[in-house]
Amino acid sequence: MLEIKNISKSYTTGGFTQKALNKFNLKFRKEEFVSILGPSGSGKTTLLNIIGGLDHYDSGDLIINGSSTKSFTDKEWDAYRNNCIGFIFQSYNLIGHISILENVEMGMTLSGESSKTKRKKALDALEKVGLKEHAHKKPNQLSGGQMQRVAIARALATNPDIILADEPTGALDSKTSKQIMELIKDISKNKLVIMVTHNRQLAEEYSTRVVELRDGHLVKDTNPVANEEKNEKKLKIKKTAMNFLTALNLSFNNIKTKKGRTYLTAFASSIGIIGIALILSLSNGFQIEIDNFEKTSLSEAPIIISEQAMDIDKETMMSIQKTKNSKKEYPDDKNVYILDDIIQTMVHTNIITQDYLNYLKNIDKENVASISYQKSTGINIVNYNEEKGYNLVSNNSRGGASWTLLPSKVDENATGIIENNYDILAGSINDNEPGLILIVDNRNQIYSSTLEQLGLSGDKVSFKDILSKELKVIVNDDYYNKIGDYFIPNKNYEELYNSENSIPIKVQAIIRGKEDKKFLSGNGIAYTNSLVEKVIESNKNSEIVKTQKIKDYNVLTNQKFEAESKTNNKETILGYLGAESIPVAISIYPNNFEAKDNILEYLDDYNIGKKDDDKIKYIDMANMISSLSGNIMNAITIVLIAFSSISLVVSSIMIGIITYISVLERTKEIGILRALGARKKDVKRVFNAETFIIGILSGFLGIVIARLLIIPTNIIIENISELPNVAKLNAIHAIILVVISVTLTIIGGLIPASIASKKDPVEALRTE
Ligand code: ADP
Ligand code: MG
Repeated sequence: MLEIKNISKSYTTGGFTQKALNKFNLKFRKEEFVSILGPSGSGKTTLLNIIGGLDHYDSGDLIINGSSTKSFTDKEWDAYRNNCIGFIFQSYNLIGHISILENVEMGMTLSGESSKTKRKKALDALEKVGLKEHAHKKPNQLSGGQMQRVAIARALATNPDIILADEPTGALDSKTSKQIMELIKDISKNKLVIMVTHNRQLAEEYSTRVVELRDGHLVKDTNPVANEEKNEKKLKIKKTAMNFLTALNLSFNNIKTKKGRTYLTAFASSIGIIGIALILSLSNGFQIEIDNFEKTSLSEAPIIISEQAMDIDKETMMSIQKTKNSKKEYPDDKNVYILDDIIQTMVHTNIITQDYLNYLKNIDKENVASISYQKSTGINIVNYNEEKGYNLVSNNSRGGASWTLLPSKVDENATGIIENNYDILAGSINDNEPGLILIVDNRNQIYSSTLEQLGLSGDKVSFKDILSKELKVIVNDDYYNKIGDYFIPNKNYEELYNSENSIPIKVQAIIRGKEDKKFLSGNGIAYTNSLVEKVIESNKNSEIVKTQKIKDYNVLTNQKFEAESKTNNKETILGYLGAESIPVAISIYPNNFEAKDNILEYLDDYNIGKKDDDKIKYIDMANMISSLSGNIMNAITIVLIAFSSISLVVSSIMIGIITYISVLERTKEIGILRALGARKKDVKRVFNAETFIIGILSGFLGIVIARLLIIPTNIIIENISELPNVAKLNAIHAIILVVISVTLTIIGGLIPASIASKKDPVEALRTE
């Protein structure tokens, strides 16, 4: 069954080579009690370790079942130790942090035995050594003799064919020694027991054969195996495997014995997680604040496509105004001044076509919070001026001073565009009342043509004069006289002005772009939405509209409509005649600044390859704010990335160190596990399980602490910025952080775990 053939083993330490075994030969029977005697250092332990597969020979061969072990793999050695060998050591080598029962079960645990049979076999073995009632005690609650009996029970539990005992009574008094010897002798009835001892008397009294060693040589054998003796019994070798749950349980028990340190470790490594959790909660909160801020500012400052847009960028515009203008900016006096007319030529007139409206319908809805279409209609106004008499003004007259529809609110809750962006210098705005609003630039200037349209003149006009001026909106049936199938406008403006059908209107208010909104430097006349409604109301059933609706030519000019034309088509003419409203201004409210950039890009694309007259230009009111908040976001992101990477690195290094310390502390346990047949892989698992537990613990601890720290953080932020509850930890982030913590601790522990698994079992057992 077992034969040592010509085995040599030497150790080299510090350049000095010591031959522990020198060409050693020995054969064993399947059932006998062999005692090995010899002075200290003669090679007894080395011999036992080689037989047990804990240590490997340099040369020669160990014959098991008649076959060589020269080509044994690590796995086969592990299985051999687990199935065939039971070790009993002088210093008992029990694992301190698990119970007696679990110690006895360990060999079966390693071989993957079911917990039921494991328990039964372990209790049987404990019964045999008379310690069944102590099964749930921890090793340090037993006496030396009891501990050795536990070790014997552990060796017996797997029912191995060979029991190897290295000075099992070396640490016991003579009375206890005898009890242990009786136990071992009993075992040897149906097993091979090889026992190393110093005690010649015990050896001769109990064993069936005494072998003596000196300097690695066999010097005496009282009962050598004769060559003709048969050795049929075969050793059974079954592969071992420990599952991760066992490893977890083992580590969990170990961790439980040092709670304080475990919590400290978990806390230390959770600092990284706490940091990231806080940063995430803050950036989360700030992101929400920024989103809100963007939404509000964008609801006050939409992208506007109106009939008039500046054809030059606002910087050029402002510099022209500066160099050409000596008048005071933001004056306090109650007058409106006349502007140099050169700038008027820089105004671009947008003709919003059906084609463009269709284009807008295809805009990416993800970017848009809402789009509001302001609709207008042809409005004809007659004014009276003492010098120039009665004059006709139309909002449709292209190229004239800028007439715009007063921007309306997107919804009831939104703050008004006007209130947010303009100062009301005189009067008050009432959108429910037909009327006009005069917009002046930052020097209170307007074009002379604008002033003329109001029926006023001069270089300087007082607010009072403007607000008291009365104009008349004339209706179609007064204005257009039917001649056959055609209409001609009535040129008698005085008659029109004084007609009782005419709607009297006034300038409701004079407004100016706020000083902090310099980009609103335009000027002109705006009219209220109720004016549009009123005009449509009076004109939709007028004679000219009814006629135009059934004719396919322009009833004013006798021109045939052209399908391709932007201006000469039925729809535009009907709009002009006040039959229906046509969109004159479109306000697009983006979701956020990034969305706004996407929308602008989309709007710019429309103009590619178009003639200048056909281009549609927009006003980007939020231009100023966007770059600012973009910078804030970038800064936050950079800080976030920097912080997270530092804390990630720190915590994984720390876990590596801590696991390494644990490996050093548990070296002995590694040796025991290996002696019981644990594979290198199993040892690795034990430590990976430990880092896994610490990782989970530190992850949860980190989240809990971060959650607590958010409370004072929010109080501080509220004191500084008046924003309540900014920092918010979102549940998904928390889960991800725990996962990261576990992953990182496992990664940090990989190297120490692999160091542990590579430890030489013999040396590991030797450490204290
Ligand atoms: P015994 O058990 O008979 O006292 P050992 O088998 O432990 O003797 O040791 C035999 C010889 O080998 C001794 O001289 C010892 O110093 C040496 N030896 C044993 N193990 C090692 C080792 N791991 N490293 C260096 N020398 C060793
Ligand atoms: Mg020894």
